[in-house]
Amino acid sequence: MPSPIAHSIVSLTLSPKKPSEIKGMKWVLFWIILGNFADFDFIPGIVIGDPSRFHHGPSHSILCALVLAILAYRFYPVLFHGHKAPFWAMMSVTFSHLFLDMLTVDRVPPCGLPLLWPFSSYYFLFPFSLFLNMNRGMTLHILFSLHNLIALAIEVILTLPFLVWVVVKRRRAKFQLFRVKDKRQRV
Ligand SMILES: [Zn+2]
Repeated sequence: MPSPIAHSIVSLTLSPKKPSEIKGMKWVLFWIILGNFADFDFIPGIVIGDPSRFHHGPSHSILCALVLAILAYRFYPVLFHGHKAPFWAMMSVTFSHLFLDMLTVDRVPPCGLPLLWPFSSYYFLFPFSLFLNMNRGMTLHILFSLHNLIALAIEVILTLPFLVWVVVKRRRAKFQLFRVKDKRQRV
């Protein structure tokens, strides 16, 4: 799996335009949590002292990604005062998690993701990788190892340009809209 940084950047890239009426960080947090939700399967493992024990289980299946997208779509208006977000955005964010994980080096058997759970126990992984695996450990020495820092740099280099591109594109569209409004007011 890539780090939460890559999942978060890709989630924000795929999220729809933020409605101007929604203020604060809650909206950004919503998309970051949605994109990282599958990795919450670390939590029960951390509780029993074995973080990887339940990782890459059912939460990394197509069925769970679909259910999560439906729940997010259902509760989005509750969280954001009646605003709606397109279902495709929820789907693309939850499925992007599976896509990124399958593009990551995985040497811990069973390698890959149980995409077809509960109908098949087969694990899927792309035959090539773009991202390095993160070394997981409870110590700072492991977390900030050279390997993890290189993995993080690769993630940022491969994902951040897309987010910057989307943000710049949306800002330009916003300014163009202001210019059109301004011209109309002058006429
Ligand atoms: Zn994952």
